Amino acid sequence: RIAMSKAHVLAIPYPAQGHVIPLMELSHELVKHGIKITFVNTDFTHNQIMKALGEKDIEGNEIQLVSIPDGLEDGESRNDLGKLTEAMCKVMPKKLEMLIEDVNKSVSNKITCVVADESLGWVLEMAKKMGIPSVAFWPASASLLTLSFSIQKLLEDGTIDGDGTPAKDQIIQLAPMMPAMRTTEFVWTCLGSLTTQKFIFDYMCRNNKAVEVAEWIICNSTYDHEPAAFALAPKILPIGPLAAGNHAGYLAGNFWPEDSTCLNWLDQQPTNSVTYVAFGSFTVFDHNQLQELALGLELSNKPFLWVVRSDVNNGKHHAFLKEFEDRVHPRGKVVIWAPQQKVLTHPSVACFLSHCGWNSTMEGSINGIPFLCWPYFADQFLNETYICDIWKVGLRLDRNSGIITREEVAYKIKQLLHDDTFKARALELKILAMNSVKEGGSSNKNLNNFIDWIKA
Ligand code: UDP
Repeated sequence: RIAMSKAHVLAIPYPAQGHVIPLMELSHELVKHGIKITFVNTDFTHNQIMKALGEKDIEGNEIQLVSIPDGLEDGESRNDLGKLTEAMCKVMPKKLEMLIEDVNKSVSNKITCVVADESLGWVLEMAKKMGIPSVAFWPASASLLTLSFSIQKLLEDGTIDGDGTPAKDQIIQLAPMMPAMRTTEFVWTCLGSLTTQKFIFDYMCRNNKAVEVAEWIICNSTYDHEPAAFALAPKILPIGPLAAGNHAGYLAGNFWPEDSTCLNWLDQQPTNSVTYVAFGSFTVFDHNQLQELALGLELSNKPFLWVVRSDVNNGKHHAFLKEFEDRVHPRGKVVIWAPQQKVLTHPSVACFLSHCGWNSTMEGSINGIPFLCWPYFADQFLNETYICDIWKVGLRLDRNSGIITREEVAYKIKQLLHDDTFKARALELKILAMNSVKEGGSSNKNLNNFIDWIKA
C-alpha cells in the first residue's frame, strides 16, 4: 500500500505588497485545513519580508518560504512594473520549474496543486505542462478581472485599439449594474509610461489566455460587493474578504516592519474619532502635496494616524515631518508602516483616508469604516467608484485644481464624520461581508469547496 501524500500547494504571488499579503492569508487558511504550503517569493521580496519581520512573528509559522530571482539586479528599482514583469518572464520560468522538480524528488511531498496570481499566467501554463492542476488567484476586484476578460470585446467595438489605447475619453459600462469605467482610467492606461502601458496591456491579453487552463479562478471579494461582475463572469468565485488571523506566529508578509505603538496610541483616543490615513505600498507624494495633506489633517482638528512609508519620497519629507509631528503630538501620530488590519478593527477609528487599493478597500469594508478616497493609479479609480457611487460608503476628494488642498482634506473629513448615513451604510456592508465568510456564507462555501477539491 502506497502512503497517501498530503495535499501540497505551491503558492506564488506577483511580487508586490498588495498581492503577497492576500495570498499569504489564503495560505494560512489552507494550512488550518492540514494543507502543506510552499510559498514562492522573489529573492527581493523575500529579503524585504525577512528584514521586516520581528523574530516572534514567525515562531509558529508553518508556511514553507522559498525564493527565486526576479531577473533584475540587486540594486535596481522594482517600481517600474513593466520592466519588472518583463525581467520576471525571462528568468523565473526556468527557476520555478527547477524548484518544482526539486521538491517533487521527494515522492511523499510532491506539489499537488499550484495556486498562482492570475497576473502570472506563465505559471499556470507551466503547471499545465508539468501535469499539475492549477488555480488562478485574483487579489483585486472581480470587476477588474471582467474588464480584462472583456478586452476582446472592447477591441471589436472600437473602444480601444490594438495597443489598448482608448479611442476617446468616455465612460463605459461592461453590463447594466456594473461600475462605470472611464476609458482613460482603464488599469493598463494608468500604469506608468506609454511603453509600460503597452507592455502591461499585451501581458494582460496573454494572461486572459493562460487563465483558461486554471481549474479555478478565486477572488478576494464577495457576491454582495460585486453582484453584477460575478454574474458577468460566473467562473470567478469569491472567497473573501480574506482577513488575517493576527495570532502569534502569524506571518503577514509585510515589506516594512510594523510599528505597533500606534495601537497603544489608538487606545488613548475617543471611540470613533480617528482618521486613519494610508496609501498602501506603492504611491508616492511630491512634497507640496504631502505638505497640504499634513496641514489638512492638522486643520481638521481631529485625531489622526498617518502612515508615511520611508520610501515615499527618498526621505525628502524628513525635516518637515519631524517638525510637523512635534507640533501635532499627541493628537496626531505618524508611523512608517502600521498593522493596518488591527488598526481598522480598532474602535477608535472613524474613517479611512485611502488610496483605494483593493486590499485596503476590503479591509475597511469588513470593519464598517467609511472612506475618503484618494486614488492614484491602476485599479484605484474603479475601487473609488465602488466606494462612492455603488456602496455609497465614502466621499471623493476634489482634485480639480491639480492638488488636493488642506481645506479640502479638512472639509471632507468633517463632512464624512458628521453625516451618519455613511457609517450606517458601511455597517450594512460589514454585515454582508461578515455573513459571507461565516459558516454557510457564500464565500465560505466557495472556499470550503475549493479546499475539498485541493484535498481530493
Ligand atoms: N498595509 C499595512 N500597513 C500599512 C499600509 C498598508 O499592513 O501601513 C497593508 C494593507 O493592510 C493591505 C496592503 O498593505 O493589505 C496594501 O494593499 P492595497 O491593495 O490596499 O494597496 P497597494 O499597496 O497594492 O497599492
